[in-house]
Amino acid sequence: MIVVFILLGMFLASFYHFFADRKSNNQSIVKPSPHCDFCNKKLKWYEKIPIFSYIIQGGLCNNCHEKLPLSYFLSEVILGFTFGFGYYLYGISYELFAFLIIISLATIICISDFKYLVILDYPLFISVILIIILKYCYFGLTPTLKAIVSGII
Ligand SMILES: [Zn+2]
Repeated sequence: MIVVFILLGMFLASFYHFFADRKSNNQSIVKPSPHCDFCNKKLKWYEKIPIFSYIIQGGLCNNCHEKLPLSYFLSEVILGFTFGFGYYLYGISYELFAFLIIISLATIICISDFKYLVILDYPLFISVILIIILKYCYFGLTPTLKAIVSGII
């Protein structure tokens, strides 16, 4: 299970980084499909595998041999092991899911703030909604309403 969470963290980090890059620049996350920032060559499926692709390609684009952003590799390693560590600490529990949501939010904010000096709205809104749903599922209506009210105050 720890390995599953490590892999989940790595793949999500890859997506979060992609999301932060695109949304910070007001681009769609659907089009164009992932490509090299330097030569615009579309990435093949095996060039999108977290960590593995970066190591296999030696951190360089296959086509133009420009250096790929190290931040992709670092965020994949860090989030992968943070997810694994979260599962190791909490097991399947409310604490684990809250931890994963907050760490995910922090990851997206770190990337977009560090690279573009932007803090995106979407991830904040989505995280708030996810936390409210999570709280409701684990504790029911009254504690959830209390949390919302205290949050607003
Ligand atoms: Zn390239």
